[in-house]
Amino acid sequence: MQSYPKKQTTIKLSQSKQSQIVKLLLITLLCISDSVNADEQAIDSVVNSDVNTPASLMAHSDIYINTTTTTQNGQATARHNTYHCSDTPVSVIATSIQDLALICDGAQQAAYFLAQYQLVITQTIVIRIIERPLSFQGYSAYGSYNKHTNAIEIMSLAYIQQHTDTPTMYGQPFDQIHYKAAVAHEMVHSISHQNSPLDTLSQSAQEYLAHATQLAVLPTHYRSVIINAANIEPWLPGDTISDIYMAISPTKFAVKSYLHLTTTADPSAFVNIILNAKWMYVDAS
Ligand SMILES: [Zn+2]
Repeated sequence: MQSYPKKQTTIKLSQSKQSQIVKLLLITLLCISDSVNADEQAIDSVVNSDVNTPASLMAHSDIYINTTTTTQNGQATARHNTYHCSDTPVSVIATSIQDLALICDGAQQAAYFLAQYQLVITQTIVIRIIERPLSFQGYSAYGSYNKHTNAIEIMSLAYIQQHTDTPTMYGQPFDQIHYKAAVAHEMVHSISHQNSPLDTLSQSAQEYLAHATQLAVLPTHYRSVIINAANIEPWLPGDTISDIYMAISPTKFAVKSYLHLTTTADPSAFVNIILNAKWMYVDAS
């Protein structure tokens, strides 16, 4: 298990300074809705309505920075709090602490999984919990990542519950476990960019690692059900890992990627290939 440097606290700043910083951050985040690198994933499942207690949340939100209010046409719309996850350099901006433990757990799981391939978080990642639908190129989306701001946007679990009829993930009911794994997925995009020498990464390469991680952080019994239902083999040497395949069959793409990464002889070497992939598609090796 790898540990990460603790986030620098800003509690020594004056209240006005804190407020300025958070407002600037929010302004930046509010301007990324047309991200050129947005990641999308269809929402296809039902959400567990259980929420975490404040006591459990405290373990994940050790530093409270500030509260700010966003406005639209002069009218206050929402109060945003900013928290830091205790074990991972991640800041969470949200109007509620309801999803904080899930977000921090998912972020931590992704960080630990990728650390075995020598990928590290070098810059604090901002995750903004939003209370509106996400879409990208006409598809519903639960989350997105913007490489320019290193920020992730994810719909709140409550919003998904209230606005999606029967959400599923990989053909299974979408619950808190899958929500955490979805956070891990988005974290991979950010960590990949932080560990790649390239400004623009191959989309299919990114998705390979993001989906492999998303499946890897699931409990074994969750993952087994998905893999057994997909009934498909890993990417084989010479196979083209393409985002077209992912668009046609996202679950099979995910399973093939997970099985390949976890069975290939030198997974670190292949992860290195992924982070240096300049072309649209990547061939499995
Ligand atoms: Zn993705």
